[in-house]
Amino acid sequence: MTEKHYGGEAGFGAKEAVKTAKNTPIVKKESKSNMKSESKSDSNNYQDYIKAGKIAIQVVNYAKSIIKKDMLLLEIADKIESKIVELKAKPAFPTNLSINEIAAHFTPSFNDETKAHGLLKVDIGVQINGCTADTAFSLDLENSAENKILIGAAESALKAGLEKINHNIKLKEIGKAIENAMKSKGVNPINNLSGHSITEYDLHAGITIPNYDNSSDFELEEGVYAIEPFSTMGLGSVRDGKPSGIYHLQKDGNVRDSFAREILAFIAEEYRTLPFCSRWVCKKFGSRALIALKRIEEAGLLHHYRQLIEKSEAKVAQAEHTVIITKKEKIITTE
Ligand code: MN
Ligand code: MN
Repeated sequence: MTEKHYGGEAGFGAKEAVKTAKNTPIVKKESKSNMKSESKSDSNNYQDYIKAGKIAIQVVNYAKSIIKKDMLLLEIADKIESKIVELKAKPAFPTNLSINEIAAHFTPSFNDETKAHGLLKVDIGVQINGCTADTAFSLDLENSAENKILIGAAESALKAGLEKINHNIKLKEIGKAIENAMKSKGVNPINNLSGHSITEYDLHAGITIPNYDNSSDFELEEGVYAIEPFSTMGLGSVRDGKPSGIYHLQKDGNVRDSFAREILAFIAEEYRTLPFCSRWVCKKFGSRALIALKRIEEAGLLHHYRQLIEKSEAKVAQAEHTVIITKKEKIITTE
């Protein structure tokens, strides 16, 4: 999944300031994981991130082997998520299967009839104890020259970003490397979508990795980061589309309705603060869970992600990897 910037150019990167506020846990973490995050000094402390990455690599290979044109997105998502469980991990978020001008945050609903076609982005999250591997690739399902250029550009921009990222690197340097790689292929990066820091049970943990030179002198510290360039021949920015059916718990609180309360407890227990979708909740509770989800959303307890659509309705490709940066090393967990 990705992060959209709502504040326009001026608001970009300002999320650094809200980092502290976001660290207050909604769902209490075990003391073990709190201790762990205090002393992350080498790769030993990132074992679960590394394990999740290894599983993500297997899941990506599996996904590439099964996805065919005209397959139901519902079947693709189910198979990918079952494979994650089979490999003894959990999905970190619902499989995003976004087609053409939908850049991100499309996941099939429980009765979705959409079939795979066009330029398909497959964005997969794997977590172990809340430690996430976030990775994405794009497929050309219509043998189109434009799609192939876009996919190649996203992949080479990702490579450029991964080469650049390091302890103490300035954000603008990563953004510049990604932007230059895109422009050299004659396409545009999507400026208001970005990579992000990852912490336990927090997929978008406060720091953004820009896909263009945003002139930020903020220097990266040790941590886990997702880099995810999006390429397009269109304007190079996205707008909000329809509600996606993807949510995450954003606030402590309660609801009056007892069925909604039961679902809320399930969400807090099962997904904590990671994204989940109505499809998963319907699988467990039936389709009447949709009304309960609405109640919980109305109570202000859920963030409901919007689909993200390229502003000029141009096609979009995406590539993504997760990388651990320490003072001593750089580990790309999903490659
Ligand atoms: Mn991501
Ligand atoms: Mn992702």
